[in-house]
Amino acid sequence: MKHVLKLMAGAAILVSVHTAAMAADLVVGVSWSNFQEERWKTDEAAIKKALEAKGAKYISADAQSSAAKQLTDVESLISQGANALIVLAQDSDAISPAIEKAAAEGIPVVGYDRLIENPAAFYITFDNKEVGRLQAEGVFKVKPEGNYVFIKGSSSDPNADFLFAGQMEVLKAAVDAGKIKNVGEAYTDGWLPQNAQRNMEQFLTANNNKVDAVVASNDGTAGGAVAALDAQGMAGTVPVSGQDADKAALNRIALGTQTVSVWKDSRELGKRAAEIALDLAGGTTMDKIEGVASFEGGPKKVKMQSIFLKPQAITKDNLNVVIDAGWITKAEACQGV
Ligand code: BGC
Repeated sequence: MKHVLKLMAGAAILVSVHTAAMAADLVVGVSWSNFQEERWKTDEAAIKKALEAKGAKYISADAQSSAAKQLTDVESLISQGANALIVLAQDSDAISPAIEKAAAEGIPVVGYDRLIENPAAFYITFDNKEVGRLQAEGVFKVKPEGNYVFIKGSSSDPNADFLFAGQMEVLKAAVDAGKIKNVGEAYTDGWLPQNAQRNMEQFLTANNNKVDAVVASNDGTAGGAVAALDAQGMAGTVPVSGQDADKAALNRIALGTQTVSVWKDSRELGKRAAEIALDLAGGTTMDKIEGVASFEGGPKKVKMQSIFLKPQAITKDNLNVVIDAGWITKAEACQGV
């Protein structure tokens, strides 16, 4: 009996040595959609740090806003030996063949920040509807009535509609009461600021500049909208929302040309996603990941495992939150004030 116990203990030690060695051998491939967006650099640093802490290897590719390139990127990450993938999908439908290929090879996929439904990937994100609510609330507090413009996100990113749904939850009563008029609403192709600027210019022209509020869905598009307002001498007179707590946006908040951003601490998102990717690669099933909840609120109503982190609104009144968190320095935020 003693002998057997000894043997079992030896085996247990062997197993744990083996699992540690496995984590160190793992390769995680990250497929970025549009790395030029400021926030993804912070996400990347967090993912790298968490992987390095476990001795795992980070490899990546940037699709440069091309859904077609992202398919070959994922294939290349797989052929470079990725044991798990983290995918920020440029286009939630067009990405399907890449996710199917990973599934066929038994490589787990974490859908990073954006929903992937077909086939379903593990979904980790911030609560996007809540982000939309915070955006609309920030603008509504300043302008509870008037002509509203909606600069939405990319139509190929399900987040765009989640955000808009959250925005409308907040504004619906005022819209129904005729206090708020929707005088322009457009998706922003690829989330690109120049496309947002062009849409904003068209809305200003169509309404003879009678625009009272702009609900922009992220800080990049807010920058485009503010540039269009500025060209008409209107920057700072019309409330504008955003999200991501980009440095330029936080500076616009300090200067008064943007009203609200929504801070999503992507250091936390990146860390969690990296750890989940390693767990899944090590054989943990999705339903056993700590803190998971089931989600089926996407356009295709596919059931999947998810984790939602909590976003926070940032205005002039609480800029100190991001400064205190080491997200931005006071000098950067308040430059030119
Ligand atoms: C993300 C935003 C980001 C946008 C453009 C969205 O899916 O949630 O944080 O600003 O994509 O990259």
